[in-house]
Amino acid sequence: MKAPSFAYARPQSLEETFDLLDRHGEGARLLAGGQSLIPSLNMRLSAPEVLVDINALPGMAEIRQDRGVLRIGALVRHTQIEKSEEVAKHAPLLAQAVRHVAHPAIRNRGTIGGSLALADPAAEYPACMVAMDATIVLAGRGGERLVKAVDFFKGLFETDRQPGEVLVAVEIPAQLKDERSVFLELTRRHGDYAIVGLAAFKGQETRFAFLNVGPKPFLARGAASKASVDEAKQALRAELNPTADLYNSAATKMHLAGVLMDRAWNSLST
Ligand SMILES: Cc1cc2nc3c(=O)[nH]c(=O)nc-3n(C[C@H](O)[C@H](O)[C@H](O)COP(=O)(O)OP(=O)(O)OC[C@H]3O[C@@H](n4cnc5c(N)ncnc54)[C@H](O)[C@@H]3O)c2cc1C
Repeated sequence: MKAPSFAYARPQSLEETFDLLDRHGEGARLLAGGQSLIPSLNMRLSAPEVLVDINALPGMAEIRQDRGVLRIGALVRHTQIEKSEEVAKHAPLLAQAVRHVAHPAIRNRGTIGGSLALADPAAEYPACMVAMDATIVLAGRGGERLVKAVDFFKGLFETDRQPGEVLVAVEIPAQLKDERSVFLELTRRHGDYAIVGLAAFKGQETRFAFLNVGPKPFLARGAASKASVDEAKQALRAELNPTADLYNSAATKMHLAGVLMDRAWNSLST
């Protein structure tokens, strides 16, 4: 199938982008890497009147570390993350996770901002952001608004982003020397969306953020406070109520979440 017809705009500044979003309201859709949006148009799941291509916006395709914070611009492609020494050094969890995002062709175009704004429950980055306690940076007419990742993901493909706002960056506390993190997922084939995944971080606080067990990343708060892996798995069974999908029952997902918890616990403890 082909996409329905749409108008196309390529603003050169955020101000111009806000004007377009104001003018077209619900009829406008931001276009970043297009790896999720264009298939959805081709399948006629969505029919915006105008695509606002944000790829020419300045300053949004950079990765930089400053005073303990790694800032990744929304237009940074998955492949840039994969190759970045800054990411490998300061956000090793993300460096591990990106290798599980789709295939090279998609990683060449898809952006971190697109993935976070889309909030697919099976995507790797949202769970990583929750585990790393990252902050999402949104720009609107009134300036920038900062939202903790744990509050940003609201539900199935639903975020705290308000009409007229553009996700411009994500800010991640740089991982310290004595902190640990691990990303694990189970898939039928490498590159497929995960059946279940886990982004785990151990610092002053421990955070286990699961992906694809419900409509948004699931932060296992009860499990994180336990002293042994058996207690943690018991707490997980009490707090997690996974959603089944077309191929995997809730019981299967619960079992696999426990398997990943076991592996992550071992990895964070060694
Ligand atoms: C075959 C296939 C396999 C895939 N496998 C995986 C996978 O295993 N894991 C995974 O995580 N992803 C996977 N993806 C999705 C891929 O990672 C996409 O790149 C990503 O989800 C969307 O990024 P994008 O830049 O392409 O966004 P687009 O498709 O351009 O946009 C997606 C949505 O986000 C909005 N948007 C984009 N940028 C912004 C912004 N800066 N501010 C506000 N809103 C914005 C758009 O309006 C649109 O609604 C797969 C895609 C395909 C086609």
